[in-house]
Amino acid sequence: MIKNNPFDSALSQLKIAASKIDLDPNFLKILSEPERIIELKIPFKKDDGKFELVSGYRVQHNNLLGPYKGGLRYSKGVDDNEVKALAFWMMIKNAVVDLPFGGGKGGLQIDPKTLSQNELERLTREFAKKLSFNIGPKIDVPAPDMNTNPQIMDWFENEYAKVTGDKSKAVVTGKSLQNGGSEGRTEATGLGGFFVLEEFLKKMNMQKPLTVAVQGFGNVGSNFALQLWKNGYKIVAVSDLAGGIYNSSGEGFNVPLVKECKEQKGLFANCYCIGTVCDLADKKKGNITNEQLLELPVDILIPAATESVITKDNADKIQAKVVFEMANGPTTPEADEILNKKAVIVVPDVLANSGGVTVSYFEWLQNMNNQHWDLEKVNSSLKEKITKAFLDIWDIHVSQKVDLRTAAFILALKRLQQKNF
Ligand code: GLU
Repeated sequence: MIKNNPFDSALSQLKIAASKIDLDPNFLKILSEPERIIELKIPFKKDDGKFELVSGYRVQHNNLLGPYKGGLRYSKGVDDNEVKALAFWMMIKNAVVDLPFGGGKGGLQIDPKTLSQNELERLTREFAKKLSFNIGPKIDVPAPDMNTNPQIMDWFENEYAKVTGDKSKAVVTGKSLQNGGSEGRTEATGLGGFFVLEEFLKKMNMQKPLTVAVQGFGNVGSNFALQLWKNGYKIVAVSDLAGGIYNSSGEGFNVPLVKECKEQKGLFANCYCIGTVCDLADKKKGNITNEQLLELPVDILIPAATESVITKDNADKIQAKVVFEMANGPTTPEADEILNKKAVIVVPDVLANSGGVTVSYFEWLQNMNNQHWDLEKVNSSLKEKITKAFLDIWDIHVSQKVDLRTAAFILALKRLQQKNF
């Protein structure tokens, strides 16, 4: 199978929205190209003394609205096209939530599970060293993404300070609380998604109980599932890299127990018959593949893992009424078209998962102003900002009769256009 190029997908989405508002072709051209692509070969020493070269990237797509902003991911799938697409989507996402940031993204082409903790630290510090003169609180502000976390952000910030002498904590967000991180940042993507989903369901007149399948159980998928579980949704399927578990009885899993099992056993596949998930699944549990999870008869499907999982090859088999994108770029433009025809509504990534970068913005603000907000202030500010973005998008969706992704892009393009030269 030919690998889908996510950057092509991103540009198709851009063109569709641009055509609806007659965007100036020159401006369209500017938005279609990253301003800077930093490609690195990072040498680092393994515990056995051998050296390895790891490919690293930082793409600074556009800074019309403010410093480049976006995460760093560590994964084997990282390459230039993936990072270019993700940096582009960050530009749109930040504009959608009305943050004073442009779009950026970076990563290392490595599976961090193959590294010891010491190796992970050494590699991260080497990466930070090489990027130090291209980032800064008012230049480019990295954050966590797939397989990266507050500890990695702390190492990154610390190395930046050593290299540049700049001790500002605002150079990186998603840090630990002890190191200038924000209350609520870890849960922010999940919580933001929950606020959007609740508003969306009101508009759709959809009422609980609703069944939900979640693909991916990293920081985003697990926190989102937990939030939904606490609020009466039935999480009937979850998965990780190796596959998933499904409760076909329609009874939802007890998400905290599922989370606990996953943490103890590493994979859902190992969660069978150890007296937790097994019992909860009411004997009708099933081991399912990630592909099967996407095609389950549920009300809401949540891709929360990686890009291009819903494509022209499986879009027709999606049975959910709503696809709620917590991953970045999970649906290809061809799949969007098929889902549209089937009246499956897609709530787009650039809105659904924007809670993470929104609280990153709050963290950046706190660091810049030497403040510490309490959790209540963080969460209520997140709710206000993300709800406003949803309502703005909904208005465009209704008034211009476009799908929600196109509406989100139109909102972002209008904000970017105002800053055009
Ligand atoms: N990696 C997250 C995203 O894709 C958060 C980025 C950030 O906080 O800067 O939105």
